[in-house]
Amino acid sequence: MSGAALARRVAGRFRDWHGSAPEGVWHAPGRVNLIGEHTDYNSGWVLPFALDRGVVAAAARRGDGLLDIRSEQAGDRATVPLAGLGPGGVTGWAAYPAGVAWAMREAGHPVGGATLVIDSDLPQGAGLSSSAAIECAVAIALAELYQVRVPRTGLVRLARRAENEMVGVPSGIMDQSASLLGEAGHALLLDCRSGETAAVPFDPAAAGLALLVVDTGARHALTDGRYALRRQECERAARALGVPSLRDVADPARAAAIGDPVLARRARHVISDDCRVCAAADLLGAHDLAGLGPLLHASHASLRDDFEISWPQADVAAEAAERAGALGARMVGGGFGGSVIALVPAGDTAVRAAVAAGYAARGWPEPAFLAAPPSAGARRLL
Ligand code: ADP
Ligand code: MG
Repeated sequence: MSGAALARRVAGRFRDWHGSAPEGVWHAPGRVNLIGEHTDYNSGWVLPFALDRGVVAAAARRGDGLLDIRSEQAGDRATVPLAGLGPGGVTGWAAYPAGVAWAMREAGHPVGGATLVIDSDLPQGAGLSSSAAIECAVAIALAELYQVRVPRTGLVRLARRAENEMVGVPSGIMDQSASLLGEAGHALLLDCRSGETAAVPFDPAAAGLALLVVDTGARHALTDGRYALRRQECERAARALGVPSLRDVADPARAAAIGDPVLARRARHVISDDCRVCAAADLLGAHDLAGLGPLLHASHASLRDDFEISWPQADVAAEAAERAGALGARMVGGGFGGSVIALVPAGDTAVRAAVAAGYAARGWPEPAFLAAPPSAGARRLL
């Protein structure tokens, strides 16, 4: 569905449910991280780009100090008083939008009550960051309605705080940065230590290529403990190497100096993926998109063998895609579920067919395929 169609649909829903038009409709995209996985909390680099799919928020101010939040996808309705709102006060999906209002008010911004209707054309839990999309759509809606003059980078931090503290997911700044700072035809090189960003040209179509997302159908839960365990392992690996974080090691071979073989593998993944992000950014700068293929392949192997967070459907999809002509493919996201990306020739259908056949041979339901053109960041649509 196009963003405009989604905006019309959510505005219609707002009118059906509330009997009046919203003051506006705001859109925030999901994202795909081209390369650099689990590098963010190790103070390293990532290279995400914004998708053409995302979350829309139809919103209007209200004077009673309440947030009235509904979502086309969630089904239920949350009514949340802003006064006394804090971590633990809201659970489930409404913690994302309510957390944004809370974080904005905590930072001293004059955000009051609002009626919010959420809609989306982005799969949830697929590693495409629907969580950041819902946060960022609500953040730009509330910022504009209540005339909060915060630069986009400030909204990135507020949306992240909502996810970290209100929802309780210890994520980094990548997802919100991609959603709020993304540009069409570009990826965003993000230094997770300094917070510095740079737009890097990334236009697969112009190179006769396309970025395909395979939603493998397997679902992750960042709260299930394995994500937190990897974070701890990385901290221990950095301590073993005597550096503040793994970002401070340039040569993946240095990981071998760690006595514990598991920690050594974890470190080798993070250090080598940092190298691959920087190599990928250089290739994009030189408009050598085909050169990305081997980097995507190497990243997947590293995530599968060293970081040990890939899952059967991802391995099958990545392998089938490459055998059918993808230049490279890899799992994306935190691991254990979500999506695979493949760099394919434009107009290709062989890769989709091969992945579907690989699934069918194992008796798995056919995965969903999404085209992923690098698209604009969050903006007002109506
Ligand atoms: P991802 O960010 O990869 O999609 P997460 O687990 O981080 O996965 O975030 C998914 C959660 O975000 C959902 O379980 C839900 O709580 C919330 N969410 C995302 N989109 C919507 C939506 N359209 N309506 C309600 N909640 C949503
Ligand atoms: Mg998320």
